[in-house]
Amino acid sequence: MKLPNYVSGKWVEGAGPGESLVDPVTGDELARISSRGLDLNAALEFARSQGGPALRQLTYAQRADLLARIGEVLSANRDEYFRISLLNLGATKADASFDVDGAIYTMKYYAKIGRTLAEGKMLKEGAVLPLSKTGVFSGQHFLVPAKGVAVFINAFNFPAWGFCEKAAPALLSGVPVLVKPASPTAWLAHKMVEDVVKANLLPPGAISLICGSARDLLDHVREEDIVSFTGSADTAVRVRSHASVLRRSVRVNIEADSINSAILGPDCAPGSDLFGLLVKEAVKELTLKAGQKCTTIRRIFVPRQNLKAFGDAVSAQLSSMKVGNARNAEVNVGPVVNKAQQAACLEGLTILKAECSVVFGGSEQFPLVDAEPQKSAFVQPTLLACQNGLGAKNVHDVEVFGPVATVIAYDNPQDLIEMTRRGRGSLVASVFSNDSNFVQQVILGIGDLHGRIVAVDSSVGAQHTGHGNVVPSCLHGGPGRAGGGEELAGLRALHLYHRRFVVQGPTNTLTELSGLGADSGLLYA
Ligand code: NAP
Repeated sequence: MKLPNYVSGKWVEGAGPGESLVDPVTGDELARISSRGLDLNAALEFARSQGGPALRQLTYAQRADLLARIGEVLSANRDEYFRISLLNLGATKADASFDVDGAIYTMKYYAKIGRTLAEGKMLKEGAVLPLSKTGVFSGQHFLVPAKGVAVFINAFNFPAWGFCEKAAPALLSGVPVLVKPASPTAWLAHKMVEDVVKANLLPPGAISLICGSARDLLDHVREEDIVSFTGSADTAVRVRSHASVLRRSVRVNIEADSINSAILGPDCAPGSDLFGLLVKEAVKELTLKAGQKCTTIRRIFVPRQNLKAFGDAVSAQLSSMKVGNARNAEVNVGPVVNKAQQAACLEGLTILKAECSVVFGGSEQFPLVDAEPQKSAFVQPTLLACQNGLGAKNVHDVEVFGPVATVIAYDNPQDLIEMTRRGRGSLVASVFSNDSNFVQQVILGIGDLHGRIVAVDSSVGAQHTGHGNVVPSCLHGGPGRAGGGEELAGLRALHLYHRRFVVQGPTNTLTELSGLGADSGLLYA
């Protein structure tokens, strides 16, 4: 089976034998993909000239209705997405739900909040600003939908959520989308796009799909377009520094990798509720999606005297978890995505082991349920420990994108903050403590290098949304190494797909423009 691409309103098979998509448990080939021979310049132009204008004929509220209908189509096909997740990602039910249900929830969330927007064709930002002594001349900022294409280059670990969390705000903004899922797991995004296209909800050109390499895609992006990239920091540099992107000042949003931290406060002794909650969170983060989440906890900072107790508690829970083929209902932990990823994890683990001790796991030979080591791509859930975090280098720098985390001892808040900051910019840190002075000190110390901080005390207990869970109402993204991107945060996500400008003119005209609702946009459409 070769999965076709959807470009210029047509399904087109790429040339040549293409690349193989494999089952990471059996090693069997599932499908092939190819983007060879596609006219990607024409695909972008079709989206700009056909999809964009048709979407922008609609109001925000009408586009929100489209999102709601897309959400219904995706919900109706949820079982098939779980089946594909099992085959192509080796996903357990919990793993598949995190990606697929997260995707559907985000689509429906944007449908709901999109309906709250005025029936306008652009957005007004802020109040009318007086610019003259007598008040006759004023300024007003507006946000108008970009007239280009939103190009999504996505990572392999979230084929469903990665597509929906970007497509929902872009389509709501009136911007057509072209999605290029990561090659190894393109099948799931392909199936979702196929279902949306079959449902005939969107105008021609509003959605396009490329399965396979990005090839010359970025050569053809223009100033009206938006490139939204999710993936490794190394590829991010290539995308950001692409000649067309630089020359034409194409807006780029980067979500890259991240050495995220969880912190146990000095007040949380073994046996306390917060100690137990962080142990549970660490185990969940290590094992869910086999640790292949951009937000996964990579470093766990604990007071030095609790290092051993924390490691023992995590190990006790990990030892009862079964790793293997998720077709067997007893399995809790699935594989990483393929042999190449497995090799990358083992290489990273070797580097970390040079400055850390192994508390749990870390072996290449370990028991697997219903899977053969030669054919499959499993990594043993592994907890490392680092006594000298200030002297260590790689533990703050090497992202093992699998079920691996390191518990690191700290002696005082200053050292803790310094070590956390060595991640050089992360998506998320969580702090478990009932000491509000400590929590404030940590937040002020690391806030500028983190996109999200989760603070949990005993009053919150188990009601927190999770260290690794991205909720669409809150910001997702992080500075520095994490890419510097910003996504979600409710309607704020629409800013990426709009252009801001100010009109300075007669106050009467501005007041009319601002109050015109739907018509105000038409003046600038
Ligand atoms: P990757 O190797 O960087 O690939 C990401 C995407 O970029 C893929 O679609 C890939 O296509 C494409 N690509 C590769 N080279 C390109 C080029 N020269 N020009 C244009 N596109 C190019 O990352 P990955 O291995 O798929 O994903 C794992 C990484 O993503 C991890 O480091 C993880 O931390 C990060 N991640 C971050 C977030 C976040 O929100 N911050 C979310 C998920 C994952 P091909 O697959 O066809 O090569």
